[in-house]
Amino acid sequence: MESPRSSDIDLSYDLRETAPTTEAETALDKRIKHFEQTVQECGESWFLPKVHNLLETTPEQQQLKQKLQFPFQLIAANQSFPLKNSIVAERIARRLHIPIEALYCSEVLQNRPHHFGYEDIEDGLRQKGIPIAFSVFGRTMQLASDLDLSKGMNRLFFMHEAFHVPQGVELIQQARFWMPFFAAGLKTDPPKQRVLINQEYPAYGMEVESANVVMGDALRQAALQQRKIDPSTMLTSFNAEADELGWAQMITQLSAAYYPNGSVIRESYPDLFKEIVRRISLRDGFAVYEKMGNNLHPVIR
Ligand SMILES: [Zn+2]
Repeated sequence: MESPRSSDIDLSYDLRETAPTTEAETALDKRIKHFEQTVQECGESWFLPKVHNLLETTPEQQQLKQKLQFPFQLIAANQSFPLKNSIVAERIARRLHIPIEALYCSEVLQNRPHHFGYEDIEDGLRQKGIPIAFSVFGRTMQLASDLDLSKGMNRLFFMHEAFHVPQGVELIQQARFWMPFFAAGLKTDPPKQRVLINQEYPAYGMEVESANVVMGDALRQAALQQRKIDPSTMLTSFNAEADELGWAQMITQLSAAYYPNGSVIRESYPDLFKEIVRRISLRDGFAVYEKMGNNLHPVIR
């Protein structure tokens, strides 16, 4: 028997049924709109003007400048996606007799990799105090109810997660391998979410590059001159509260390891930088795997 092609499965829906109806759907819709609006505002009034002022004398600087704008373009591009409300999408998926993941992943397979859903953050991540996360196979941006983008550090986390959205595309195209790999982590007792650490290097790299833009190149300059940056000066630049000092320490540590040789554009990450990223992911309680050539190795410390 011939196996069906994805084009044989009818995933069509009527735009009218994407309007939120229940209380839960409407509440999530409001949260999404608020998120989109605050992202746009913080792009326009805070981050993008600083990006536009960056030099672009080398091709690498030009590419970095482009990449720094990506998180804001992503949220704007997804704004018109009719299924971005995951509670609404769930209702439509039920009618189509398919899992919601299939509905979202099909967007990627139809060349719309900038489409994804929004949902409430998973309990496990909420308990760890993580304000925002992107689920690769769920294709959802998970928002904590108290996510506050007026806090500078949360803006950095948002940018980090945005870079995971295009990364998921390759994994979905190779779903036969990666889906069971990630699912296996949820079958252990206790379940432990798996992380492919190779995807964290560019995300943390962009987090450092973004922080450096906000700080007027201070992070890179400090590394070039082998000076330490006091994390509390970072709090000042980010208009952040004292309770965000731990995150500022993490970023300053990462940036001291990343600069001057690290480059997200050349995909070059210094060993110390990679080691810090591995440790952060382990500390966050993930089962960490690293792809080396064709092999996947568990990262244990
Ligand atoms: Zn990440």
